[in-house]
Amino acid sequence: MKILGIITEDFVNYKKPCMVIEFPSCTFKCDRECGRPVCQNSALATLNKINISTSRIAEMYTSNPITEAVVMQGLEPFDSFSDLTDLIRALRKQTNDDIVIYTGYNEDEIEDYILDLRRYKNIIVKFGRYIPDQKQHYDPVLGVKLASNNQYAKRIS
Ligand code: SF4
Repeated sequence: MKILGIITEDFVNYKKPCMVIEFPSCTFKCDRECGRPVCQNSALATLNKINISTSRIAEMYTSNPITEAVVMQGLEPFDSFSDLTDLIRALRKQTNDDIVIYTGYNEDEIEDYILDLRRYKNIIVKFGRYIPDQKQHYDPVLGVKLASNNQYAKRIS
């Protein structure tokens, strides 16, 4: 699968220490809807993509005793849905640890995908566009602050 990068140990995106996978694509819907460039991840789009197997990522995760969750994040994991599910399947062969997916889509825009993901255990999805100039709020599911009022996380399985 193609990714932009991996953060092997991260302590800011979830309440548990996690490994972060950076997905390579987004249609930049947040920019489009705001009518100006607002996406804080847009610089990532200029990075070279890395080819790595899902089994290698799963192996990297399970060989690190510090991390207790995997976070899939920006650009937009749901714009690479086939790779996303391949990676979840590879991880689930090794572990049932929490998998957190950060998406800019609203829940009603990706209902079918969410239904599909419910067959895997312990999946958490953070929904909603990035809208600038709002006060951060604490999300109890993630245990971290989110940037826009419309954003929230939900355990879907
Ligand atoms: S979904 Fe994420 S990567 Fe895409 S435009 Fe919004 S904030 Fe940027």
